[in-house]
Amino acid sequence: MPPHLDTVSISLHPARVFASSNTKGNGRKPRKAGSSSVAVADVATPLTTSRTPEIEVDSVLEQELSSNGFRSTRRTKLIATIGPACESKEMLDAMASNGMNVARLNMSHGSHAWHAEIISHIRALNKEKGYSVAIMMDTQGSEVHIMEMAAPLKAETGQELVFTVRDPAASLGDDAAIAVSYDAFAEDVQVGDEIVIDGGMVSLEVEGKAGPDVYCRVVDPGLVLSRANLTFRRGGRPVRAKNAMLPVLSAKDWVDVDFAVQQGVDFIAVSFVKSADVINNLKSYIQSRSARDIDVIAKVESPDSIPNLAEIVDAADGVMVARGDLGAQIRLEDVPSVQKEVVLRCRQAGKPVIVASHLLQSMHELPTPTRAEVSDIADVVRQRADALMLSGESAAGLFPQKALEVLRIVAARIEGWCREEGSGAIALPRIAGSLDARIGEEVCASAASMADNLGAAAIFVFTRRGVNASWLSRYRPDCPIFAFTDSQEVRQRLNLRWGVIPFLVRFEDDPETNVTRTFELLKRRNLVAAKDLVVVVSDIQRTSQQHRSVQVRHVS
Ligand code: PGA
Ligand code: MN
Repeated sequence: MPPHLDTVSISLHPARVFASSNTKGNGRKPRKAGSSSVAVADVATPLTTSRTPEIEVDSVLEQELSSNGFRSTRRTKLIATIGPACESKEMLDAMASNGMNVARLNMSHGSHAWHAEIISHIRALNKEKGYSVAIMMDTQGSEVHIMEMAAPLKAETGQELVFTVRDPAASLGDDAAIAVSYDAFAEDVQVGDEIVIDGGMVSLEVEGKAGPDVYCRVVDPGLVLSRANLTFRRGGRPVRAKNAMLPVLSAKDWVDVDFAVQQGVDFIAVSFVKSADVINNLKSYIQSRSARDIDVIAKVESPDSIPNLAEIVDAADGVMVARGDLGAQIRLEDVPSVQKEVVLRCRQAGKPVIVASHLLQSMHELPTPTRAEVSDIADVVRQRADALMLSGESAAGLFPQKALEVLRIVAARIEGWCREEGSGAIALPRIAGSLDARIGEEVCASAASMADNLGAAAIFVFTRRGVNASWLSRYRPDCPIFAFTDSQEVRQRLNLRWGVIPFLVRFEDDPETNVTRTFELLKRRNLVAAKDLVVVVSDIQRTSQQHRSVQVRHVS
């Protein structure tokens, strides 16, 4: 059995976390965990007759804000992949209350009915508990993988396994063979090739071929899972044979995209992106089919994407460094530099960037992470990536909640350390094109630097489309960015942005009324106090889009 919890060296109890991690704060004492309201409606607000609350903030963020002192609240966003280990409504609730900002649905597994049920649980929880968990649909992609297997197979060293391109349904009863998704597999592979399953979970050597069947001997033992990814190498290098010609979005992926559009998800992540074309194509398809904006996230995991990084970052609404497959397809020792390059490019382009896979691999089976895993997470946080993502740890591991807690605690601690040592700043060239965008960029650059220089408690930004909140996030200011929007869609999409705490509010026509009203509403919830210094960016005058202001104000 794994070691007991009491050997864990970081506190994993939420209340203790909140109480102990207030380092600098904004001068005010943190409120005790549990004392903050988690109701969706602003119960303290009198005079509201409609059912729409005057202001909504994610109840978990609110708790982190009021407990940590909001300067110390977590800036890095957390994504958790949903699977059997956390599929019940109770577990999803626990995941949300442990800091899950985005729930990821991996279309390599599960039926549409299953995914639809998860989505409806999350929507219900958002309503009932005041969360604002966003939903990301992640395509399977058409790289080579193992077909559905009845049960996982334990591959022992020296054991012979047979892979086949035979259709399992039409097979003549050779149950022992493992079906592979890619018709040209038996033609492409050669005797002596190395077969790598799930980026190195199991590896085998090809010993012989006979028609559609490929005979292999297990070299590195492990578990062969249903639908696991499969690559093959020759002389240590991945073979890019006919599979390099597979479409990025397969027929199944398009059906899943239609499902995602119909469900109204917030993000669609595209696996094995090779160039910007597929992103542009998908974006225009979504635009023609979907009533709402769905952000398209490009997953960097194919070697073909590396030379095209600039155009991919440019075309996509965000990028994921998918280290699992990436590490199987390029040399392992090149993964850290590719990660760093993608994170840097995205920060410069103002696109959200997610670092995914193997963050807490050991927590599949153990309640405590390895020190090396904690250091890896710290490295990602120091690179100021927007989000950390759990895959198998939350979908199929034994400790999904604890894995989230580790991410949350380590992220908040390392962010505090980065602020203390002033590390992580990068050169951010001006990038906006149109005059409207240039105004937004200038205003937000000034606001972020004013907030840092003045030690402001928060930046307030009034943002209809989330654009100015995103500009502010790009500057990674020291204080949190309170983003007020009147769109639930924008609020959920902002959940992926570093440092942005999205609030849903009703906007009045007069900008000054909006500012004073939000001061009032946040004071009532103890999120700000009179005299707190804040920087306000306001662009909500419908009639004069280009009249934007940066104001330095004391909360009154
Ligand atoms: P996957 O992508 O979980 O869809 O395979 C993530 C990765 O490859 O790291
Ligand atoms: Mn992948």
